[in-house]
Amino acid sequence: ADRVEINHRDLNTHINWDKAAIIDAAEKQNDYIVAAKKAKKLLPLAGVPIVVKDNLMTKGTTVTCGSKFLKSYRSPYDATVIEKLRAAGAIFMGRANMDEFAMGSSNENSAWGPVKNPVNKSHVPGGSSGGSAAAVAAHLAPLALGTDTGGSIRQPASFCGVVGMKPSYGRVSRYGLVAFGSSLDQVGPIATTVRDAALLYDVIAGHDPKDSSSANRPIEPIHGLVNRWQDLEGHRIGIIEECFDDGLQDDVKVKVQQAIETMRRAGAEIKTVSLPHLKYSVACYYVLATAEVSSNLSRFDGVRFGERQDHESLEQMYLASRSEGFGKEVKQRIMLGTFGLSSGYYNAYYDKATRVRELIRQDFQNVFDSGIDILVSPTAPTTAFELGKKTRDSLAMYLSDVYTIGANLSGIPAISVPCGTDQKGLPIAVQLMTPMFREDLLFKGAYVYE
Ligand code: GLN
Repeated sequence: ADRVEINHRDLNTHINWDKAAIIDAAEKQNDYIVAAKKAKKLLPLAGVPIVVKDNLMTKGTTVTCGSKFLKSYRSPYDATVIEKLRAAGAIFMGRANMDEFAMGSSNENSAWGPVKNPVNKSHVPGGSSGGSAAAVAAHLAPLALGTDTGGSIRQPASFCGVVGMKPSYGRVSRYGLVAFGSSLDQVGPIATTVRDAALLYDVIAGHDPKDSSSANRPIEPIHGLVNRWQDLEGHRIGIIEECFDDGLQDDVKVKVQQAIETMRRAGAEIKTVSLPHLKYSVACYYVLATAEVSSNLSRFDGVRFGERQDHESLEQMYLASRSEGFGKEVKQRIMLGTFGLSSGYYNAYYDKATRVRELIRQDFQNVFDSGIDILVSPTAPTTAFELGKKTRDSLAMYLSDVYTIGANLSGIPAISVPCGTDQKGLPIAVQLMTPMFREDLLFKGAYVYE
């Protein structure tokens, strides 16, 4: 705890750090582990420290979502994933810094200041789960939970040189996750190895009646299969043509191509495939995600949730509370989303984007139906950029997720695995994607890089 305390200050990975509470929790957890041992119960994460993104409800803990609007909000209950982690014996090592309400790609939208990339402190860690990825990369904890709406687990994992995975939509409960884009959000693991990510995934995955979008279907633990995975013989890998275009940094392209060669050497058959509608994914995402934001964030009004700014009239109170509480990016998105949903524009924006989403989903389905097992692309078009470099250019920032958003729009699982560094030593990663609920294949494919 001492070492973590010093390092997290330097990198700003944490929003909430209560050392006494952590030591207390560790001791309580110890009793629990001893009791489990006596009862001959195996706890998969007994005594393992984990950093949790600050948008997951954890009873008695402040949950700020990176926003000063929620600076003193305390959670009255546990998210399902937190309940599962407690039962698995994990110890919570503080709350990870994040972009406000998970909106961002660089962790520069946090009310608590930016996180620094542990590989090079003048660079961003990626976002929005930047604190989670940086904490794991800096070895402050072996595991972290992040959330991914358009790439927020995979892109920071890529920038920091760790493994990050977004499960299939519906695989992991969203109960107790503060909603951003409810049709896109998933909670997922960040770890230093594929094997560890699989272990954490096994703990958090599964049906939850408290989440109406949770999938009620059989699930096979993955971690136990890892030792049996030797090669990729018999698998067909699809290289997504559209992800190797002009926007891609040269050394990212080279390293990802080498990563594909590794799969070929492991026995996989490699084919190039095309997803013709994928080029619309960023535009489509920013219509849909902002629409969901405008609806989901209406609960932060100074009455139900959020710091209140007192005023004589109710309307002025709402206005003052929201103006004061939300940061710039969040306000921008609420306005964009409200516009896209408003009468007269709904058909041109929201409705159209919903249809484009279906075309993108169909593109993925067609490729998988043609016999491709695993799709491959870079995780991000560039390596981690310098702090402050893209803060004034929303579009440049939004393009950081050009390769990751497709998996959220179509719901499929995806993983980012480190595959080298650029000339400055900054990490590069390859992304794998598989059909819905084929996390087994996803981890198997990723395991060739272990
Ligand atoms: N960077 C994307 C955005 O700003 C994705 C965020 C996320 O996945 N939470 O919306």
